[in-house]
Amino acid sequence: SRYTKKDIIRMAEEEDVEFIRLQFTDIFGMLKNVAVTASQLEKALNNRCMFDGSAIEGFVRIEESDMYLYPDLDTFAIFPWRPQQGKVARLMCDVYRPNGEPFEGDPRYVLKKVLKEAADMGYEFHVGPECEFFLFHTDEEGRPTTNTHENASYFDVGPIDLAENVRRDIVLNLEDMDIEVEASHHELSPAQHEIDLEYTEGLAAADNIMTFKMAVKTIAKRHGLHATFMPKPKAGMNGSGMHINMSLADAHGKNLFVDDNDSLGLSKVAYQFMAGILAHIREITLLTNPLVNSYKRLVPGYDAPVCVAWSAHANRSALIRIPSARGEDSTRIELRCPDSAVNPYLALAACLAAGLDGIKKEMTPPASVDCNVFAMTDEEMRTLGIEQLPQTLGEAIEAFEGSAFAKELLGDHIYTKYLEAKSAEWKKFRAEVTDWEVQEYLYKF
Ligand code: GLN
Ligand code: MG
Ligand code: MG
Ligand code: MG
Repeated sequence: SRYTKKDIIRMAEEEDVEFIRLQFTDIFGMLKNVAVTASQLEKALNNRCMFDGSAIEGFVRIEESDMYLYPDLDTFAIFPWRPQQGKVARLMCDVYRPNGEPFEGDPRYVLKKVLKEAADMGYEFHVGPECEFFLFHTDEEGRPTTNTHENASYFDVGPIDLAENVRRDIVLNLEDMDIEVEASHHELSPAQHEIDLEYTEGLAAADNIMTFKMAVKTIAKRHGLHATFMPKPKAGMNGSGMHINMSLADAHGKNLFVDDNDSLGLSKVAYQFMAGILAHIREITLLTNPLVNSYKRLVPGYDAPVCVAWSAHANRSALIRIPSARGEDSTRIELRCPDSAVNPYLALAACLAAGLDGIKKEMTPPASVDCNVFAMTDEEMRTLGIEQLPQTLGEAIEAFEGSAFAKELLGDHIYTKYLEAKSAEWKKFRAEVTDWEVQEYLYKF
């Protein structure tokens, strides 16, 4: 690993670090933390820091509540946006039971388990997320709104793009934390932005997504704005996705998705991996698209996928797209359904496990669909044998509920808690009467 305990104690001293945040993620993807002072750093590094697991959603019952935080030394980073005297640093942690066993309800543990399985098969998982989000105004009391007076669109420049300086500030802060950014730009909808994180190993990618969301919200607030990763904040315009670019490498970092002899430049492993994702995607959509609101984004006409199909070309209506760049650094597949409301540990674990299953079972993907799926009727899709993605949270729950694959992937604990919580969320939504219904029906009926 990158750092030893000694390195961290030395860095903390040299950098005048006063507080260390011990961070972890609950099963619904919420970042949690406890701050300890520098005097407690050694204790923390010796895995002696404890918290009440029963107070975290989806963790444990009250009678078995003591949990321990084991810091991952490689994740030591200083928050550049906090005071520069008496600095604040963080360590991402794994969650352990008092008996020294890893806690099976820790999402980071689930991802590590699947990464280990991949490593045993000779694969390293490489991931590059493209994160989209909106920057909205707050009201006089500081509460978030969906208002903006911006009107910019895809790739626009300032002064039309009013948030150039916010994005710049976000990117510089991330770079200070050793998170490289590949690109950043204005997105299609007014006030919508995208930042693409560097292509990196799976666990670091998930940690980076958590850090990224915190940084974006923090920096936006400093500019007087509210950053939201809500998948579809406004009807009638594009929502925010989190496309996941993926490939497998061997132990020496060689890209195993490349094959120059193939007409698309893809290897057999790449096709099998993709076939595995296509085969399992409906069962794991609850993990890649976890909210009632996620399914408002997955409708025709807004650059988000609606059906289970892949495209060899730059077809943005497909679920999986093969970006046109090729070669050792670039050959990858792009999964387009996920949104940033995911728990990145669980979503990446699900994608990897599905892909590995494709390899194990030597699956072949269906023929690629290279026309605009948005323009097809349901009838045409049926004739071509194209399945739809779940259209509501309810449908996603149904597919997840019957899935032995999802249960095996998550383990009983997370599987059960996740299903319970999502079912309750869906039930609650079903009892709501929306503005649309009132507008549409009140007068007519
Ligand atoms: N915002 C779109 C989505 O929901 C993607 C648009 C794009 O990246 N071109 O996935
Ligand atoms: Mg992009
Ligand atoms: Mg985009
Ligand atoms: Mg993309």
